[in-house]
Amino acid sequence: MIPAPTVQTPAGGAPRARGRRSRIVVLVVALGMIGTVLAVGALRRAAEDRFDQALEQRTTMVARTLTAEMRRYTTSLLDLAAAVGAQAQLSRPEFDAITAATDRQRLPGATGVALVVPATDPEIPRVQAAWRRAGHPGLRLQPAPGHTSEHLFVVLNRAIDGSGSAAGQDLAAAPEAAAALSQAREGHQVAVSASYRLLQDAAVPHEAQQLGFALAAPVYSTSPSASDAGQFRGWMVMALRGGDFLQEAISRIAGETVAVTLSDASNGVATPVGRRLPSAAIDESRPARTLPIPVPQRTWQVTVAPTELVLAGTALHLDVVAALIGTLITALLAALTGTVVSSRDRALRRVDAATAALRDDINRREAVEQQLRRREEELVGFAGVVAHDLRSPLARITGYADFLREEAAPRLEPEHREFLERLYGGAQRMQSLIDDLLNYATADNRTLRRTEVDLNRLVAEVIRDRVGGTGGQQPTIMIGPLPGVDGDPVLLRQVVDNLVGNALKYTPAGQQPCLEITGTALEAGGWRIEIADRGIGIPAAQRATVFDPFIRADGSQPYHGTGLGLAIVHRIIERHGGEVGVRENPGGGSRFWFTVPAAPPDEQSTATAERTGAAR
Ligand code: ADP
Repeated sequence: MIPAPTVQTPAGGAPRARGRRSRIVVLVVALGMIGTVLAVGALRRAAEDRFDQALEQRTTMVARTLTAEMRRYTTSLLDLAAAVGAQAQLSRPEFDAITAATDRQRLPGATGVALVVPATDPEIPRVQAAWRRAGHPGLRLQPAPGHTSEHLFVVLNRAIDGSGSAAGQDLAAAPEAAAALSQAREGHQVAVSASYRLLQDAAVPHEAQQLGFALAAPVYSTSPSASDAGQFRGWMVMALRGGDFLQEAISRIAGETVAVTLSDASNGVATPVGRRLPSAAIDESRPARTLPIPVPQRTWQVTVAPTELVLAGTALHLDVVAALIGTLITALLAALTGTVVSSRDRALRRVDAATAALRDDINRREAVEQQLRRREEELVGFAGVVAHDLRSPLARITGYADFLREEAAPRLEPEHREFLERLYGGAQRMQSLIDDLLNYATADNRTLRRTEVDLNRLVAEVIRDRVGGTGGQQPTIMIGPLPGVDGDPVLLRQVVDNLVGNALKYTPAGQQPCLEITGTALEAGGWRIEIADRGIGIPAAQRATVFDPFIRADGSQPYHGTGLGLAIVHRIIERHGGEVGVRENPGGGSRFWFTVPAAPPDEQSTATAERTGAAR
């Protein structure tokens, strides 16, 4: 029974493939996201670095600018103090002329410059009278209440910011300014005060008030003609508003990128001096930078806090853009991978189905082949039985026909003798057909009885039997050294007999048969035996088919035969696990060959030793 073709797909194949596809897609997504996170991290780090660098740069520039500005203000005040000290007798017009230079110098934040002199309570009338004489007739010194030891009166002044005159004011009312003046006097150099609310801003509304500070330079009389030559005369004092000073000094370099706070850290605690805030929001998440600012006699520091505008183009968040692009690419990759994997799975399923169909086809063919083989075996067996049963009646026919040819032939009419000859010839042909059929059946059915077969001896016996029956023409036969092989001696004899018989038979009448029998060891093991003749040869196109039963090649019609001999040879060699074939013999004729397994090594040596006596 031949199985019907079925297409098999592995059970649960689709869910398994889906599971695998999901795993691969998840893997691609995970890899993509890891890549994106790494890229975003790298971009963020690079942005942070650039941000830090930019802030560092801004802070350094702000600190340098403030340092330079303070130096400029100090120098300017020192110049004024020197000019005032150089006057033999200082009058108001001279003071105005000396300080007129401040109008030309840009001194943003400065409210004015003043000459300040010390005076105790008893000295006030004298000092006031002296400076009224020096050109300030309306001067009225106003001692600060509560200060009895020493007053610090502004006797001459020039307003820089357009505010009114501060003449007559007592700076002792501002302890920070008083301290700076005292420090300047003691140190003989410029001093900067701690921050305080300037006296002239007392009338300004509280919310508009700024902190300020004073720069004080001691004035010494340097004119040799002066009555007080070499004496301390007072101070040149410049008052500044911290916020205005900052705004003017650094607005150009800081812009909207940073907030700047100037503070005084002399006492270990940072007290503000001024602050400049941009309109952009301060980035509270990032630490501000602080640098020291050298000012006379004090320690200032500037603190710079970043806004989002520190980096040009920071509004474009590259890390966010990278994250978006990375996610998009990951999604595309996942979709692509999913598509590729599912088409691969589809292709694999198609291959599986095709393989299953092929397997079914092979099974079916094998079943058919087995069936055919069984039929053939039955047929061969049947032919053997029939041949066997026909043998004895045929032997009687041949016997009687032969008897009649011998005894009754002289008494028969020539025509009847002719009939008798035909009867005898036909019976003989039938005899050989039956023999061949029996041999063919034997080749197929007989149990193989393997033993070591000495081919030298076997070939010699076949030649002896065959050559005895060829009549006049004695063949030329060359036999090379032949090996001992592993096989059934009866069946191998049948092989050699058939091939030698054909070689003798298919030699044209009148030509001397010529045979060569050789053996060659095969590399893969076993032997190749060749039987070559100089006979009629076989057309190339028919060399493959002459081993099929009942097939006879063109040109063999004049020679008696059944077409079974080579089929027997083929079957026997096949059963020995060998191969058989024929090729053209160069120079004319055919070269038949077959392969057989070698005898086991110990038997081989015995066979070689016995070979010396083999017939040729
Ligand atoms: P047959 O009884 O006809 O000889 P075989 O099976 O022995 O049958 O040979 C099949 C055919 O092969 C032969 O009919 C012949 O045509 C060809 N043949 C076999 N041996 C030879 C040979 N030595 N030289 C030429 N032809 C051969």
